[in-house]
Amino acid sequence: MMTTKSIFLGALTAAVATTAAAEGELNLYSSRHYDTDERLYSDFEEATGITINRIEGKADELLARLEAEGANSPADILLTVDTSRLARAKNAGVLQSIDSPVLEDKIPANLQDADNQWFGFSQRSRIIFFDKADVATAPATYLDLAKPEYKGQVCIRSSTNTYNQTLLASIVTHHGEEVAKDWAAGIVANMARDPQGGDTDQLRGIVSGECEIAVSNTYYFARAIRKEVKGVSDSIDTIGWTFPSQDAEGAHMNLSGAGIAAHAPNKDNAVKFLEYLASDSAQQYFSNGNDEFPVVAGVELAPSVAKLGEFKADDVVLSDVAKNIPTAQKIFNEVNWK
Ligand code: FE
Repeated sequence: MMTTKSIFLGALTAAVATTAAAEGELNLYSSRHYDTDERLYSDFEEATGITINRIEGKADELLARLEAEGANSPADILLTVDTSRLARAKNAGVLQSIDSPVLEDKIPANLQDADNQWFGFSQRSRIIFFDKADVATAPATYLDLAKPEYKGQVCIRSSTNTYNQTLLASIVTHHGEEVAKDWAAGIVANMARDPQGGDTDQLRGIVSGECEIAVSNTYYFARAIRKEVKGVSDSIDTIGWTFPSQDAEGAHMNLSGAGIAAHAPNKDNAVKFLEYLASDSAQQYFSNGNDEFPVVAGVELAPSVAKLGEFKADDVVLSDVAKNIPTAQKIFNEVNWK
């Protein structure tokens, strides 16, 4: 009988440390915050006989913990969300390069770190949603969203949100710092309210009438199609969406990915786990269980995700975008994006 041991951050460090060297184990530091990920882990345990010890926490806390533990860290894998965090983990020296022909072959090149220290396993698009009754012409591009005609209409999260940091970094990558700064200032001028809440709260703002336009990752909306999400699902037919910049770079893609810890005690198992995440069944799970886009070609989309329709995704090299995150943070401060 194999079970996933879920251990929350700060608790049971000693217990994890004593099991780290045992055979048939994998110590997974995860900041993915989705209950439905359970299946992902239990399927791996059943297929391989490897027991996963899961340490869950916020991304920044897990990263700080990895740094503090140094060479004594029991961590084998860091699984997290957003390119900015993967890049930060790499820069902090807590990951290692790995050589896996399977990952090399299956994961698109633009979703791999240049030194193979991290790989993306699922994507979401950060797109524009709008109130169909109130918005006659929705912004067609990210740059359009900053036009004066949308003054007082736009709801978007705070600048501390990593999704927004990576989105702005991608605008710096495509259009340069000056355009990106004008864009950010235009968004601040167009805000319907001070940034507050998560992506689902931006969608709720459309339903409540506070926002005409909202920026959110696709999976929050697709989730509200698949199951009941309070304040969104009931009125979901009133919300329209556009995948921005279809005649240009394409819609910005947010990434969830993982890397192997620099001092992984169970490195072979860690490689197996990452290769498992690239398998068709795990890829299918990301879509069915959490309404994400698989990164491996040919994997079918969940009905909730397929409903969003086909679109052109920005295929910019995400490790290049990550280099512009400090510039994005500087711009956020300069334009006073709260
Ligand atoms: Fe999220």
